[in-house]
Amino acid sequence: MQVRRNAPLAELTTLGVGGPADRLIEVTDAAELVAAVREADEAGRPLLLLGGGSNVVAPDEGWPGDVVLVRTRGVERTGDALRVQAGEPWDDLVAHTVAERLAGMEALSGIPGATGATPVQNVGAYGQEVAQTITAVAVYDRAEKRSRVLSPAECGFAYRDSRLKREPGRFVVLDVTFALVPGELSRPVGYAELARRLGVEIGAAAPLGEVREAVLELRRGKGMVLDPSDPDSRSAGSFFTNPVVPVERAVEGCPSWPAGDGQVKLSAAWLVQSAGFGRGTRQGRVGTSSRHSLALTTEPGATAAELLAFAGRVVAEVEQQFGVTLVPEPTAVKP
Ligand SMILES: Cc1cc2nc3c(=O)[nH]c(=O)nc-3n(C[C@H](O)[C@H](O)[C@H](O)COP(=O)(O)OP(=O)(O)OC[C@H]3O[C@@H](n4cnc5c(N)ncnc54)[C@H](O)[C@@H]3O)c2cc1C
Repeated sequence: MQVRRNAPLAELTTLGVGGPADRLIEVTDAAELVAAVREADEAGRPLLLLGGGSNVVAPDEGWPGDVVLVRTRGVERTGDALRVQAGEPWDDLVAHTVAERLAGMEALSGIPGATGATPVQNVGAYGQEVAQTITAVAVYDRAEKRSRVLSPAECGFAYRDSRLKREPGRFVVLDVTFALVPGELSRPVGYAELARRLGVEIGAAAPLGEVREAVLELRRGKGMVLDPSDPDSRSAGSFFTNPVVPVERAVEGCPSWPAGDGQVKLSAAWLVQSAGFGRGTRQGRVGTSSRHSLALTTEPGATAAELLAFAGRVVAEVEQQFGVTLVPEPTAVKP
């Protein structure tokens, strides 16, 4: 276990904001991960887990305790199931499944971060989400001080949400098991823009490799693939989730999708843009991406406070103009 003092969080997060971590501990296997968490808990030091740092807004004042950097590795295959250590880079895993002709996560190509964070917000894109393939999540439960395995039902997955997110700080993901489908073809394509790009009908399948390439191309076009030379990717991806509201509160002109139980999911991108925050709206060193109004981006030297103030303005305007409350997707970390 390596421990560094006063390591700047800005260097460990894709938004590039955040002050120093008192102690930064890098762990490379599950036993070390559990030991580091137990040690912080026993000493009463605030604990922050970080994978790729692509879904957090780290505080400018830094972290007055332990930041555990999850760098555990390993993929174990049993039949068509993969048990994956939390620190495995997500997109390497997707590439691996496509090469191994295993379908189920191809539409999730190009998402940054580590596998252990994917169940936390039930990562999703282009018609797929990890809840469709996860069969088990091995965790260390800090409340019960023991390791256990959560079933998908116990994870309580929902749209960009799970019990792991709703009970923040309780569960440390050690590994995740995914059940995939063998074959050359993808799972049915469930997203109109992707189906159009592939030249297939919605609900049809396409060769796995083609789906991965099409998704990567679409994402690059929006600055949604991490790339140090692309300032639009200095973000946490979409900053707001698509709000789900009762059908009668749908907003005129706003694209929406049925969300079950008499509810609809509204396009957060449309709401942000229509409230006056179109692509490339800047305020100082922060603002909306020049290619995607839903991604908030930072310039070098920006602070978390500036970013959160800008996000607050977006929320207030959308609320005032459309009566809908946007919910941020990344975690604004607080000790
Ligand atoms: C350019 C870009 C595009 C993106 N596109 C998408 C997208 O299409 N869809 C999508 O859903 N997301 C997207 N995201 C958001 C982000 O990549 C995902 O949420 C990703 O899963 C976060 O992984 P991470 O390892 O970086 O998590 P981190 O940012 O390190 O952590 C995120 C949260 O999970 C917690 N956490 C991390 N590891 C563990 C663990 N082992 N156990 C318990 N808790 C843990 C952290 O404490 C934190 O609260 C995008 C981000 C960027 C920058």
